[in-house]
Formats: sequence, C-alpha cells, structure tokens
Amino acid sequence: MNVLNIKNNELYCEEVSLSSIAEEVGTPAYVYSQKALTERYNELDRAFSSVEHMICYSVKVNSNLSVLKILSDEGAGFDVVSGGELFRVAQAGGDLSKVVFAGVGKTYTEIQEAIKQNIAFFTVESIPELERISTIAEQMEQTARIAVRVNPDVDPCTHRYITTGRLENKFGLDVEAAYEAYLKAKEMPCIDPVAIQMHIGSQIVQTKPYEEAVQRLVFLVKKLRAAEIYLKILDIGGGFGILYENEKPASAEEFAAKIVPVVKELELKLYLEPGRFIAGNSGVLLTTVQYVKKGPEKRFAIVDAGMNDLIRPSLYGAFHNITPVVERNGEKKLYDVVGPICESGDFFAKDRYLLPVVQGDILVINSAGAYGFVMSSNYNTRPRPPEILVSKDRFKVIRKREGYEDLIRGENE
Ligand SMILES: *Cc1c(COP(=O)(O)O)cnc(C)c1O
Repeated sequence: MNVLNIKNNELYCEEVSLSSIAEEVGTPAYVYSQKALTERYNELDRAFSSVEHMICYSVKVNSNLSVLKILSDEGAGFDVVSGGELFRVAQAGGDLSKVVFAGVGKTYTEIQEAIKQNIAFFTVESIPELERISTIAEQMEQTARIAVRVNPDVDPCTHRYITTGRLENKFGLDVEAAYEAYLKAKEMPCIDPVAIQMHIGSQIVQTKPYEEAVQRLVFLVKKLRAAEIYLKILDIGGGFGILYENEKPASAEEFAAKIVPVVKELELKLYLEPGRFIAGNSGVLLTTVQYVKKGPEKRFAIVDAGMNDLIRPSLYGAFHNITPVVERNGEKKLYDVVGPICESGDFFAKDRYLLPVVQGDILVINSAGAYGFVMSSNYNTRPRPPEILVSKDRFKVIRKREGYEDLIRGENE
C-alpha cells in the first residue's frame, strides 16, 4: 500500500503504527487508509476529467459503511449487485440517483426497491430480466432506465474465475442479442434505454482488452442510432488491475488514453465501475504468528487469520505480499504462512522467502482492501475480524470484532 511507510524501524499506516493498532484491537484485523481510498478515487477522476463521467464504486469489493461514506463524500456513485448493497448505500447516505444495479439474478423485490429509489439505471443481463423489470415498472407506474450489459467476447487475460466477458460466461448478452434486447426495450412503455454497459473481468492490467471491447460497443451504439435508439451513457464497468506481486498494471491515464477518445467521438457520458483499483491497495490484514512449526519438508508460520478472514489465496491462488511489522535481522527462509482452519487450502503463502519470524510477531498481509472482509465467513465458527480506518494520526473501529454471541444470532436449539 502506498500509504504504508517505515518509521522508527516499524510499519505505519499513514501516521499510525500498525503495532499500536494490533495492541489495542487485537488481531486478525483489517486496516484501511482513508488517504489511499480518496487518492485512488481522485486518480481516476482526474484521468477521465476531460469527459463528462461518473465513477460508480463497486460496492461488493469493500462495502463497509465508512468506506462508502468516504467515497460518497468525494462524489462517487455506486455499482450494486443486490438489494443488500442498495440498502448499504442508502445507510451510508449515498446518492441513490447515482446507483447502477447489475447482476444476473435480480429478484422481483430487488427490482421494485431500486425503482422506488429511482436509481440511475439497471444493467440488464437477459431478456427475461428485461421483461420482469418492464412488468414491475408498469405496475408501479414508473419508468425504469436500463443499460444492456453486452458480452463483447474478449479475453481480458486474467484469472478464469474473474473473467466475465467471454461467451462462455453467464454475464450479459452477446452483441447480436443485445441489439434485439434494445429493440424490445424500445417498445416497452415503462422502459427507457439510456445506456450500454460492459464489465469484462477483474484485475485486468492491460489496456488492450478495453480497447477491443469498447470497439464492439461502439459498433452497437452506431447500429442502434440507425434504429433510432439514442443512448446517452457508455458504462465500461470495472476491472482495472492493481499491483499485488510484480504485475505492471496500466495507470489510470493509460486506461483513459484508450477510452476517452471513443467517448468523445460518440458524445456519450462515461460511467466507470472500479472496485479493486480503489480499495485493493488501500487496506491490509494484520495477523499474529501463533506458532512456528518445522515439519520434515516445510517450515510453517501458523497465524491467527484464516481463509475465513481472507479467502483470495485459497479461492484463486492469489498472491498477497506478506511483510513483518517489525523486521528481524537474519537471512530469509522459506515459509508456508497458514491459518488455523481445518482445511489444507487454508494458506496465505506457500514457499515464500520471509525474514525470520517467531511466535508473537505481527505480519501484514498486503493488498487486502478489496474482496477481503466482504468475502469473510464464520467457517470453523470463528468470529469475523474488525475493520479499522486510519486517517492521519488516528484510527477508529468501523466494524467491531464479532463475539461468540454474534456467531449464534438467529439460531434456535
Ligand atoms: C465486480 C464488478 C465490478 C468491479 O470490479 P473490479 O475488478 O473490482 O473493478 C464492476 N462492475 C460489475 C458489474 C461487477 O460485477
């Protein structure tokens, strides 16, 4: 994280020492930097400043109310994928007229709620969904604005679990079907087709997939104009990649350089739905070494965080840099950094060279601000960790650590 820095031989987040946080709130704990969140948001905002644009932060990535509030204060809109996320945005005081609603399985109730809140538009992912939205809007005697999510069939060159814009993926409609959907939408009295949307995947570090995909949307926008369907908005989704290990992610300016000219030429308003780009390197997971165990083949650092707290390594084999809060002298050795959960998939790093660690050392699992806490669970009946927000020389608990009572809430004997 660009706001982690070394002072007095230990790691700080902004001006707060990570060991002081660990001491006060315990570990495991998620720690986010307000400065990093706002800087990343503004980096994108500046890069696209030459065109009219709206940055709809992807709520699923890190949905803590404080995080949403910070971004809302910067002017962000929001990309939601459930009624629960819409509720969160409302609770955080977000502007619901800047909300876009995606997802392949929107329920009747979710659609009703979103129409009631007068969101910016729905991202339609199938014809039956378009029909459902139309029916509900008619019943409510309101107009529902929509985008069709186009599946441009490009290879984003990323992990197959986070590829979404290939024809084999469940998302969106292919170019031909999308055109048909717009023709249908045009005939629906309570549907207003205002936008076209794509979201081709996540952790995309090159500009090429965007260039290719946007070109396919341009073709469709023009074809629609010929059919007298005039869209106002081009929504390119999210997916901008970040540095985890040694990737060379394109910068906001580099992405903008490829996308802005297209938007200008078509005279459309641009929507972006970044998630990871804003939150990923704005947060870390703090954890304490419980035991160091030397097996016949491996040296294990067993830490107090588990795959229930941060599942990305287990789920995608994702790389997270791991650094001690206070470095020890000595030679680097190979470690497997593992959690306490009863699964062999419960690891944060395998065969990783680390400076010597001993029992009680606090480690930072980096780049944990996106798809971290939001994917946590209570597996092994473990209370979920707290979330901490650092701002300058202060920190506050923005979600408290769960207790045993939280674990059985709602259950009956
Ligand atoms: C997940 C998601 C995003 C955000 O993706 P990132 O890779 O985190 O930027 C944006 N839009 C939609 C529709 C999504 O599902």
